[in-house]
Amino acid sequence: MSDEDYEKLLDRAFSQLPTLSASKEDFVIPRADMLIQGSKTIIRNLYPIADKARRKPEDIARYISKELSVPVSIDEQRMTISGRFTQDELDAKIHKYFEIYVICKECHKPDTHLESADRGMYIVCEACGARYWVKGY
Ligand SMILES: [Zn+2]
Repeated sequence: MSDEDYEKLLDRAFSQLPTLSASKEDFVIPRADMLIQGSKTIIRNLYPIADKARRKPEDIARYISKELSVPVSIDEQRMTISGRFTQDELDAKIHKYFEIYVICKECHKPDTHLESADRGMYIVCEACGARYWVKGY
């Protein structure tokens, strides 16, 4: 077989592979890309996390701040947390945020948005149409 034929064969093989879609079943809750600096913990991937959640970085920062009961700030897309926290502690909070405020409790898909409401918000699922109230933070 000539090189050319082989390449054609490869092309065909690749074109027949199922497209790798970002299917919702594959949705993975992101982990914190963190480092400790002195007495502070930095999350370097706040913006990618927010993108994935389709929420504002400030909202996620506020949630983590409240959960950890410490002040946080955002500077050049990095989130700085007062105090030293472990990877597990931060991942647990991020996980909880997604579970409560991002992933639909009916169909478990992350295609949701929030509508503000009395003492909390409604989660509106764009995948299955569910709409339910959750407590604010
Ligand atoms: Zn849903």
